Amino acid sequence: MRRESPDALSVDSQRCTCTACPLLCDDILITAADGVEQACDHGSKTIREALAAEMPSAASSPGAAENDTPIDREAAIERSAAMLTSARRVLVTGLANAPLEAIAAACDLAESLGAAVDAGLPESARAAGPTIARAGEVTAAFEELRDRADLVIFWCCNPYESHPRFIERFVTPPLADGRPRQTIAIGPDGVMPRASSHRHLPLSRDLAVEAARLLHLRIAGRHAPDTLNGPLASASATLHDAIRSSTCVAIVTADADDSVGLEAWSIVHLVRTIAHERQAFQIPLGAGLAAGGANAAGAAAACTWRYGAAGAITCADRMGSLFLPGESDARRLIDRGEVDAVVILGRLSGPLEQAIANRGDAVSLVRISDAAEMPRQPPGRAIHLRCASLTTATTGTMLREDGRRVGLAPSRQSTLPQVRERLVDLAGAVRRSLAVAAVGGRP
Ligand code: SF4
Repeated sequence: MRRESPDALSVDSQRCTCTACPLLCDDILITAADGVEQACDHGSKTIREALAAEMPSAASSPGAAENDTPIDREAAIERSAAMLTSARRVLVTGLANAPLEAIAAACDLAESLGAAVDAGLPESARAAGPTIARAGEVTAAFEELRDRADLVIFWCCNPYESHPRFIERFVTPPLADGRPRQTIAIGPDGVMPRASSHRHLPLSRDLAVEAARLLHLRIAGRHAPDTLNGPLASASATLHDAIRSSTCVAIVTADADDSVGLEAWSIVHLVRTIAHERQAFQIPLGAGLAAGGANAAGAAAACTWRYGAAGAITCADRMGSLFLPGESDARRLIDRGEVDAVVILGRLSGPLEQAIANRGDAVSLVRISDAAEMPRQPPGRAIHLRCASLTTATTGTMLREDGRRVGLAPSRQSTLPQVRERLVDLAGAVRRSLAVAAVGGRP
């Protein structure tokens, strides 16, 4: 995308936040002619599609539908409440698409129903649970990397693919004190073009844990096996020398496809050991574009504040909830047929969507989404409550992956309700339905 200094922009340009990935770039400009500036290709495409969906012809699609048949919004809320209160067990998921205010409303709804809560994030699906709960983390804001890290190591990750503007915004700018910055990519991807300031240490992803342990041994001054040779030994020697010549080290990581979380654990211990002798921190990037939503960090934080864990909450109860990672995550609850109704905020990851489709009409759905049309469902009950665009018209706050709060700056006003308002209405209808049932009336 074309880049321009904000000073050079037309007064008609409007600044907004891109919610197409968890980087939450808040310097995006939308021109009067719906041009998108400053965004990466993916963000630009997503925003353009959202703007097109808000055009009068597309926006005239109904605000609610049941099994693809338009229905009145109020009726849709009452029918959704009846469906949820009559279910055996409900799951609330998809939280990572919504702002914090809507996630809080979704948790209120879940508590009314005694529902399971899980955003579908990888760490809740690991039997060992989140790395931070097992080993802690030494992390920093992205701006700390930008301003202080004179050595940046990309550890088996490629931010260009997962978080397209991460390098442009936080690695390419010069250090605050003018010192040169070195970058090293270890793993299959070179990440950046070869240059005097950038090296690539090719290594199979299978060896990531061994590489971290070997480097850990060297940094800690312990004996490394003499027989070790090949790319593993040479990569760890190069990294060791680079770290010893640096003042501040940032290790950028990505979510590994690692069912027990061993890779994340090995990096946490490596960073902690480096930090004993010089400034060092990890920048744990999540799945980025492949994540279930831009506010994955917010969903994890909101659930932790309420229930003491980031997800896999068996039964929402703010006075004390059971946390069963690898047991009560959304995918397993659906696969095992332990829920017969699901409340979905926004879009889900492909595997989670497929798991729901596999259940056919055994599961009822309430989707709160900005899409004019929903994925085709098998026969069954599916109610769609349409809300304002989560890309261009949602207000509220999200958390960037490093925990920084980002206020959403919508570029458009919508005639549709905000996602939070939909949830508040639905929670109210559920409480009314439960109250009627409690005194012996019909739910
Ligand atoms: S990097 Fe992510 S948040 Fe930034 S413009 Fe691209 S898609 Fe949007």
